[in-house]
Formats: sequence, structure tokens, C-alpha cells
Amino acid sequence: MPKTSVQKKEVKPKQDPVCKKYLVEYEIRAVSKYKRLTYYFCSNSCMEKFKAAPKCYTQ
Ligand SMILES: [Zn+2]
Repeated sequence: MPKTSVQKKEVKPKQDPVCKKYLVEYEIRAVSKYKRLTYYFCSNSCMEKFKAAPKCYTQ
């Protein structure tokens, strides 16, 4: 009988700073670094918006 392993991995969802969506790993379409932090995006267009005005989306 299969063991149902209760894995309690703490997977922190990454938040897209532009659209505020929480992304699981396979939803991440773009990654960008800004001030030593890594940001994850659901799409290239979110990343482009972020790159155009990172200050609007950080902090
Ligand atoms: Zn997005």
C-alpha cells in the first residue's frame, strides 16, 4: 500500500510584483534581478513593466 508521505516542504510562493499574483514554480515565465533581489513574473509583459519602472514595484 502506498505511503502517503506528508511532506511538509515549505515552498514559499513567489509573488509577481507587477500583477501581485502568487506563482508556483511552473507558472514562472520570467525572472529579473534588481538590487540583488530576484523577482519572478508570470509573463514577459510583467517583466517589461517591472524593468521600465522597478521603483514602482519594489518596496
Ligand atoms: Zn504578472
